[in-house]
Amino acid sequence: MVSMDTLTIKTENKFRSLITKQAYKKGQVICEIPTEKVINKANRYTVQIDRDQHTEVGKLSALNHSCDPNVMLDTEHLQMVACRDIEKGEELSFFYPSTEWEMDAPFICLCGASSCIHVVAGARFLPLSTLEHHYLNRHIRELMIELLNNAALHLTKLQEAVEK
Ligand SMILES: [Zn+2]
Repeated sequence: MVSMDTLTIKTENKFRSLITKQAYKKGQVICEIPTEKVINKANRYTVQIDRDQHTEVGKLSALNHSCDPNVMLDTEHLQMVACRDIEKGEELSFFYPSTEWEMDAPFICLCGASSCIHVVAGARFLPLSTLEHHYLNRHIRELMIELLNNAALHLTKLQEAVEK
């Protein structure tokens, strides 16, 4: 069991961020994702762990989004993992669409990364060409394939209607 004791919340002008009190190496597990309270609808304090499951993540709800993140949330193994080397005192951030299909509270990203997606609203609103550059959890990959299959089906129906 890896605890969250190494993490601390910093609040500045009501803006929360999650800071690490220790350094991590790429690939290292930082903590587990809490699953004591799983609900069927997203809110600002939840992370999506399956198509209809959103878990309240406690301290981890202070994790901000970044288009160039330093941690990833692996919802299959329920772990937060460093996706690059992280220094002591660094803010932790992850790519929200890697877990969230459709967000409760979309916002405009000002992270400044060259790969910035600008509108953070969930994976369903992003093109594949953007998503393929990111780590995505299984439920997001599955939902994306479904969306594409449905789109293909619609196109086929449209084609048939035109040809009639
Ligand atoms: Zn961004």
